[in-house]
Amino acid sequence: MCERLDDIRHRVEMAAERSGRKSSDITIVAVSKKKPSSMIHSLYDCGQRVFGENYMQEAVNKIKELSDLADVKWHFIGHLQRNKAKHAAKWFDWVETVDSLKLAKALNKRAGELGRRLKVLVQINIAGEQTKHGVAPEDAQALLEEIGTLSRLEFKGLMTIHPFSADPEDARQWFKKMAQLRDDFSALYPALDFSELSMGMSNDFEVAIEEGATIVRIGTALFGPR
Ligand SMILES: *Cc1c(COP(=O)(O)O)cnc(C)c1O
Repeated sequence: MCERLDDIRHRVEMAAERSGRKSSDITIVAVSKKKPSSMIHSLYDCGQRVFGENYMQEAVNKIKELSDLADVKWHFIGHLQRNKAKHAAKWFDWVETVDSLKLAKALNKRAGELGRRLKVLVQINIAGEQTKHGVAPEDAQALLEEIGTLSRLEFKGLMTIHPFSADPEDARQWFKKMAQLRDDFSALYPALDFSELSMGMSNDFEVAIEEGATIVRIGTALFGPR
């Protein structure tokens, strides 16, 4: 498992170099959905500190089991229903999948009740796929105009789950679109911090980094097939 992590880190470093950045500018989120706490613990022992989970109940169980691990950061990357906002605010450090103002407000309220702050990304449905969550680029305005006023949320940028294709080069167009959107939005909303761009998975994280990803979400390549 440590070998896999070392290999991924090396590949991240090479891709970062190709895009004129340092590997320290890129965060690897180890996506541990459907994998047991023991595997997360093993990867932690290899030095990994950031993990991503998709399903709230499963995630909360594992986060509790692993509560003795120091400096772990948990990213919620699944579809978040508003009635689960309380759990997200309690157990997670980041929510990458904010896609409505109602959800943002619910998270802000719950984080306030718990005396916590949450880092958030707005999920963009970049290809307009019916089957995917996320806000359409042209519908993001209301959310972006208000998210900065929610005092318990620290807005950090954009996230996308791009259309899957076996050929990683097919993903490049979506990554380019996301980087362009980030540039456009940061010109429109200069008060917001658009420093993070979460895109790319096991199959195409190198292409994502070449196009500007700062967060890559990697499951299979670290933990094996699900
Ligand atoms: C499962 C998942 C990943 C990881 O996918 P792999 O192809 O296993 O690396 C990344 N992001 C999200 C949102 C996911 O649900």
